[in-house]
Amino acid sequence: MDRCYFCHGKVTAKRIEHLHRWGEALLLVKGLPAEVCEECKEVYLPPASLHVLDDLMARRETLTEFVQIPVYSLP
Ligand SMILES: [Zn+2]
Repeated sequence: MDRCYFCHGKVTAKRIEHLHRWGEALLLVKGLPAEVCEECKEVYLPPASLHVLDDLMARRETLTEFVQIPVYSLP
């Protein structure tokens, strides 16, 4: 892909931090190859990266770190 589907901006290959949601589970992946629109910052994950995410969800024992995130529950 070289043009953004939404704004037709230029899309370039980058490594991103991706917060992946899988049901109740969240997984933060750093250095995931993706294509990012330079205009609207839309992120496109290539099939290879989606495969990596599936793979990581399947073997979570290879986690490298845990981070804490703040959670607010609104009334
Ligand atoms: Zn765009």
